[in-house]
Amino acid sequence: MSEKKIALITGGSRGIGFSCAKELAKAGCDIIINDICEQEKAQPALDELKSLGAQAWFYRFDVSNPEQVNEAVTQMIADHGHIDVLLNNAGITKDGLFIRMTPEQWEQVIKINLGSAYYVTHAVIKYMMKARQGSVINMSSIVGVHGNAGQANYSASKAGLIGLTKTLAKEFGSRNIRVNAVCPGFIQTAMTANLGNIDEYMKAIPMRRFGTPEDIAKVVKFLALDTDYVTGQAIEVAGGLML
Ligand code: NAP
Repeated sequence: MSEKKIALITGGSRGIGFSCAKELAKAGCDIIINDICEQEKAQPALDELKSLGAQAWFYRFDVSNPEQVNEAVTQMIADHGHIDVLLNNAGITKDGLFIRMTPEQWEQVIKINLGSAYYVTHAVIKYMMKARQGSVINMSSIVGVHGNAGQANYSASKAGLIGLTKTLAKEFGSRNIRVNAVCPGFIQTAMTANLGNIDEYMKAIPMRRFGTPEDIAKVVKFLALDTDYVTGQAIEVAGGLML
């Protein structure tokens, strides 16, 4: 049983999720990372977290599969006793103009990006209620606030996360559970590696650079650990970008 706070981070073995895992490990948390990949692929991430002084564990499951989510969360509680911070971070894109968007493109993105937050939070929050404390953070996006041509499915999923965040903040505030969303702009990860038109995007960013995963991790750490009274917020971390 860990004496430290435990943070569960979905899609935590790379990109923004892994950066958040490192920031929370440095701040004294033990870390559970989830991913859909084999443990072997996540092992370097686990090793790095351990080198930062954290205990770190890996649970493989698909965040869009409610049976797998429930089974994994039950096992985590049996293994470690508590989950204090939940970062719903796993996400995908399947971009295309709306007129050509297939039902599969729509449903897959909504299920993985938005359905997952329902499944994982629903499984975890009952333990936070018993503990009478917790912080849930949903990884939304600037496009969930402002929309983006070619991303109707993704923008809708990320807007849905903001609605979920504000509602859960109202339902669980009296239990001392805070729920917030982070809305990144363009962040340098695999997800944005193939964006065309970089110069055009750059012109729209007042700070004239893409963000780094660390820029997001600092805000996640603040919401997870440094405040006791911020809830129901969707915080844009986008270098001033408004799309
Ligand atoms: P990324 O590098 O593509 O990482 C996404 C992670 O989610 C990967 O570890 C991936 O696992 C995992 N994942 C995908 N489907 C999953 C599933 N069904 N079950 C469990 N894990 C799954 O993306 P990122 O850029 O770090 O993005 C992280 C989050 O930030 C996403 O929600 C994204 O929408 C959001 N965001 C990103 C940006 C940006 O500019 N990068 C901007 C705004 C918001 P595998 O490694 O196995 O594929």
